[in-house]
Amino acid sequence: STKLELTNIEKVFKTKTGDVKALSNIFLSVEPGEFLAVVGPSGCGKSTIMRIIAGLDKPTNGTVEINDKPLKKIADGAAVVFQKDVLLAWRSVLDNVLFPLELKGITWLDRKNKQTNRSKALELLESVGLKGFEDKYPHELSGGMKQRVSICRALIQDPKLLLMDEPFGALDALTREQMMYDLLKLSDKYGFTTVFITHSIEEAVFLSDKVVVMSERPGTILKELPIALQRP
Ligand code: ADP
Ligand code: ADP
Repeated sequence: STKLELTNIEKVFKTKTGDVKALSNIFLSVEPGEFLAVVGPSGCGKSTIMRIIAGLDKPTNGTVEINDKPLKKIADGAAVVFQKDVLLAWRSVLDNVLFPLELKGITWLDRKNKQTNRSKALELLESVGLKGFEDKYPHELSGGMKQRVSICRALIQDPKLLLMDEPFGALDALTREQMMYDLLKLSDKYGFTTVFITHSIEEAVFLSDKVVVMSERPGTILKELPIALQRP
């Protein structure tokens, strides 16, 4: 898994009406296998941090290091889950989970690979309670189920770093609770490093080894919370 270090990150967006300082003074370090939650009010720059870690956006100042090396264009071994992840409507659940492997050019002509990947996808689906759903299509699934499929689609890539931006934000309370247990299980099983963005202090405390709290704009880190509660 991955070690992550953000040093003195600043992000300024240039807009028609002037500069928007979204982040300033961000220092973060995440050890291999650690589960970090970033909590803060809406608009404080959480998504911006995540996009910067994923390599989808560049900081105005400061550095991002992954395993002690400067981040290249896209974070190596990183997979991302967003709040409302889009599944491909014309593909079955199984083929949605397999999609990132196809993008990477792991070809379906390779029969051995195909079998292995298929079994891995089925195993992941089973581990989030979607056994038997592999041939369904996205429109046949509930919001929670779709979100589980997108988590499987991230995990099939064997990520060393899992980045999640409000992944349970659109779910009802019961589903969210179940998903939190599922995610803990997966995180213990696979041992990836996780950065989990949320505005829910409850999710943060439940899931993570370390919580950082952000202030309102311009987003900066207010404090690191000690985790007093034990994981279940
Ligand atoms: P959060 O995820 O915590 O809700 P964001 O990272 O989405 O916050 O946004 C942080 C701040 O940066 C907000 O004030 C937002 O309006 C601004 N912002 C984000 N993206 C852009 C952009 N592409 N252009 C201009 N301003 C942006
Ligand atoms: P289509 O383009 O018609 O959606 P593909 O040619 O991509 O289908 O794939 C054919 C079948 O091979 C799919 O039904 C899928 O289950 C399987 N498949 C595709 N890619 C992979 C992969 N990387 N690993 C395992 N099975 C795959």
